[in-house]
Amino acid sequence: ACPVGALQEREHIQDVWKALADPHKYVVVQTAPAVRVALGEEFGMPMGTRVTGKMVAALRRLGFDKVFDTDFGADLTIMEEGTELLHRVETGKGLPLMTSCCPGWVKFVEHFYPDMLDNLSSCKSPHEMEGAMIKSYFAEMMDIDPERIVVVSIMPCTAKKYEGERTELSNEGMQDVDYVLTTREIAQMIKEAGIDFANMRGETFDNPFGESSGAGVIFGTTGGVAEAALRTVFELVAGHELETVEYNAVRGMEGIKETVVELPGGKIIRTAVVHGLGNARKLMSMIQKGIRKYEFIEVMACEGGCICGGGQPMVDAKVREKVNVKAERARAIYAEDEAATIRKSHKNPYIQKIYQEFLDKPNSHKSHIYLHTHYLVRSRY
Ligand code: SF4
Repeated sequence: ACPVGALQEREHIQDVWKALADPHKYVVVQTAPAVRVALGEEFGMPMGTRVTGKMVAALRRLGFDKVFDTDFGADLTIMEEGTELLHRVETGKGLPLMTSCCPGWVKFVEHFYPDMLDNLSSCKSPHEMEGAMIKSYFAEMMDIDPERIVVVSIMPCTAKKYEGERTELSNEGMQDVDYVLTTREIAQMIKEAGIDFANMRGETFDNPFGESSGAGVIFGTTGGVAEAALRTVFELVAGHELETVEYNAVRGMEGIKETVVELPGGKIIRTAVVHGLGNARKLMSMIQKGIRKYEFIEVMACEGGCICGGGQPMVDAKVREKVNVKAERARAIYAEDEAATIRKSHKNPYIQKIYQEFLDKPNSHKSHIYLHTHYLVRSRY
């Protein structure tokens, strides 16, 4: 059996078709950062083609009432996790802070490192945060009964299917996310609907969860969460805008990457970025033996991060001999970031608005109700 539950069969295409056909349901879709740089492969496009606009247009043709971007949820995660990191660095408690946006990694910690559960950030993952905001803030704004809303997440990931069902990721008995479909599954639905994907004209996401920063999109590759967090944390502490946007030390496909950032005022954030659970095990062993000390750790269970998640398009072995899949998809992610008008999560005007109108401030009481969670000790066997 898969130790992180990622391989369990959870097929929801028919449920989503049924919801779309039900006039009483309000069906909302959100798409993860890594989907837009791989979906085109399912329609014969070269690896690394960015199909964000075509994907949005195709989802609209499928009949979704709103097409939202999980990158907004990633920006929200940075606001919450960055604040949590600063608090822990300030107090010296609960360090290192370990990212919690990868359900494969979270479950790995629950099974194999239960004594380090408190080190995991209490933040829900981006699509879960966004699901919670859709069924509360958005439902209130649109005057829709949240019970009518069906949230569908399009993810590069099979472990997200399990995550969507965790009862800890619900509010008043309502799951934040109702169905998770992978990149391959949404491609299948687009094909079933007879949509000419390759020739679609690009469209833009719906607001209020359609505006996002470049920091949100880089969540899709290894190092992206750490870089996005550092972009915001540094600026929040400095209190003014900084020229540094790119943190090259956490980019690339090396198994364990490290960087040290000194915040204004002298506090140090030693950061490690790891992808692949074998590397995670090595890093945890070094931490437990006291060989390495960090304040912040990003772990993604899949090698390369979400761009190479288990729900992404399969790549033929012969193609893999000629093309570097991780490098091509990562290049597309960074190109999307470079093309973004806003590249830091805290600069996203819709993020500022949601705090003004609903959440109050990062890590507020309300944020904790909707955007944070807890973890469980699980048996190893
Ligand atoms: Fe899912 Fe893999 Fe991304 Fe983790 S790294 S969230 S398991 S796709």
